[in-house]
Amino acid sequence: MVIRPFGSYFGLVSDCAPFLRLTCAHLPVSLIVSLVVVLLSCTAFSDRAFGAWLTEDQAIMGTNVRVEIWSDDEAKGRETVEQAMAEMRRIDALMSPYIATSELAKINAEASVQPVVVSTELFDLLLESLRHSEQSGGAFDITFASVGYFYDYRRKQKPAESSLKQKAMLINYKLIKLDPQKQSVSFGQSGVRIDLGGIAKGYAVDKAIHLLKAAGVEHGLVRAGGDSRLLGDKKGRPWWLGIKHPRQEGFITSLPLENVAVSTSGDYERFFIDESGHRQHHILDPANGKPAMSVQSVTVIADEAVLTDPLSTTVFVMGVQGGLDYINRMPGVSVIIIDKAGQMFYSDDLIAP
Ligand code: ADP
Ligand code: MG
Repeated sequence: MVIRPFGSYFGLVSDCAPFLRLTCAHLPVSLIVSLVVVLLSCTAFSDRAFGAWLTEDQAIMGTNVRVEIWSDDEAKGRETVEQAMAEMRRIDALMSPYIATSELAKINAEASVQPVVVSTELFDLLLESLRHSEQSGGAFDITFASVGYFYDYRRKQKPAESSLKQKAMLINYKLIKLDPQKQSVSFGQSGVRIDLGGIAKGYAVDKAIHLLKAAGVEHGLVRAGGDSRLLGDKKGRPWWLGIKHPRQEGFITSLPLENVAVSTSGDYERFFIDESGHRQHHILDPANGKPAMSVQSVTVIADEAVLTDPLSTTVFVMGVQGGLDYINRMPGVSVIIIDKAGQMFYSDDLIAP
């Protein structure tokens, strides 16, 4: 993982310093200003002659998806960006619980009755989800949806306390039976539902990045909501990724990064305030089916988005101490947590010794 220190990007500027000093000493101010303008426009011109940044935003997977690449050939670049978008739409069509024809919708409709045979791709992501559940002691659990299904954040609806008590028992990843031979999924009880909202976007971001790489892209970004992955740097500069302030407009901090994946989970993304003033948001504690309350935001940085996406959700459920301990045990993974009071906490690798 690379979190490049800010200062290293000024190497180029200091290399130019003797030239600038000589110029300044011998020329009037107006001429210096003109020279700078000419130099800047030359840079812009040469950039355009040899390539350009292409950016595209589309609504996919219930969120804003952005693909941004540096391309030497605009027509080919636009085609590559569109292919990356198409790949993400393909994954959505396979894994969305809201698309009636998706494999995931079929699982939710039938797996309590009979085993449902699924594609290798979905089967493997289910295996990966269960691995996160095992490893986190159940903090990450795609059967959260057994209860999550009864929250409607737009209509400000939450399950009644009485039904919560019954349904919380259906949040249990051990109720998912995977048969590797038949590549099928079945549920150990009726009423169980699954949702890959905590991992599918990260998976899709990785797939889009692989596609860009295969097309020869060396500098790019793919973002789906709170899940981003960077390919290379931003041509001699870092990509600056902002972490949203959980309670105000704008960012609380920005990180200079390259070649990594970053996911943020926040209690401000999908939420409503209920009649008792409690924030009802979309990250549920599998222990009780209620929103996890001890933190406001978790950002995880690692090599792949299929890892950072579920880990940011997991740490959100675990809270500050449990989350820091969990991530500190993982080589190559960093975390920034903002707790209930707005205080920031960092994994050991981000703290100067
Ligand atoms: P976003 O969807 O904004 O990227 P996150 O990465 O933080 O958000 O994941 C939150 C999503 O994960 C929820 O919208 C829901 O679909 C799913 N989810 C919520 N609670 C859990 C949980 N305990 N385990 C696994 N997935 C969860
Ligand atoms: Mg996540």
